[in-house]
Amino acid sequence: MDPKTSSWFAEQHKKALDLWFTEQQTKNMKISLRVKQILHREMTPFQSLAVLDTEQFGPMLTLDNIIQTTVRDEFVYHEMITHVPLNTHAAPKKVLVIGGGDGGAVREIIKHQSIEKAVHCEIDGAVIEASRRFLPEISCALDDPRVEIVVADGIKHVQENKDTYDVIMVDSPDPIGPAVGLFSAEFYKDIFASLKEDGIFVAQTESPFFNRELIPDLVQSIGGIFPVTRLYLAVVPTYPGGLWSFTMGSKKYDPLQVDIAGIPPLDTRYYSPEIHRTCFVLPPFVKELLGSPK
Ligand code: SAM
Repeated sequence: MDPKTSSWFAEQHKKALDLWFTEQQTKNMKISLRVKQILHREMTPFQSLAVLDTEQFGPMLTLDNIIQTTVRDEFVYHEMITHVPLNTHAAPKKVLVIGGGDGGAVREIIKHQSIEKAVHCEIDGAVIEASRRFLPEISCALDDPRVEIVVADGIKHVQENKDTYDVIMVDSPDPIGPAVGLFSAEFYKDIFASLKEDGIFVAQTESPFFNRELIPDLVQSIGGIFPVTRLYLAVVPTYPGGLWSFTMGSKKYDPLQVDIAGIPPLDTRYYSPEIHRTCFVLPPFVKELLGSPK
């Protein structure tokens, strides 16, 4: 290439500005995404927050350099943490999301006609504000009249609200920093007390590949508190290993007993009545992790 042409200069300029975000997903594994633009960066009282526009996944929220959500793959996670429990409950009216400051879970919850109130309890108001400004595709339902935003610690919120909710979703980051308590047996007991007599709880419970000690512990704690405990899976490409787990604790309803033919149509891209059933079908290595027969 002739070094004097403008395309040569444009190419050199692009190379010089070649910007990548890298998350250390495990001690021995990293994921890197090419960044088109840094949309926002700040240090909140709780964590370092960034919104980066990436080539592969579009705008992406990170907290303490860990990917939380991206515009192109968020639908899997948000549909699966919400519609599986909501379609397991007979008539969910009042629901709580703990964490989930991006608003994706709330956007999915209000698709259900039975919902009268969705309380969104996020500890860090800066996550909500940044998501409103830079991730409108995800945060678009935060102003719905059925949504109440509470900027507070979800652990305290459930302690102060007994016998209140039909469904509680714990949309937490990884178990580090302010989120450690969101993975404890004490917290699950408080959630049990915050649910009505037929309430359901679900939490994101990390990767079956890389959290091989955490998952059996969580499932055991939840199983010691709730009569029905089920783990289910979905694929989220930007989370470590891609394969992601959710664990449901239910006082009465069993997601496997749901008549999937009766699930009302929803505007979704990953969740479907068939997925409601098949997401509970576990590969032998996950069954083994849970100590269940293969
Ligand atoms: N889907 C994401 C994932 O699995 O990586 C989680 C995203 S969401 C942005 C997690 C949110 O939980 C963060 O905004 C964080 O501030 C919030 N959070 C952490 N600890 C919390 C607590 N104790 N109470 C309420 N929210 C909390």
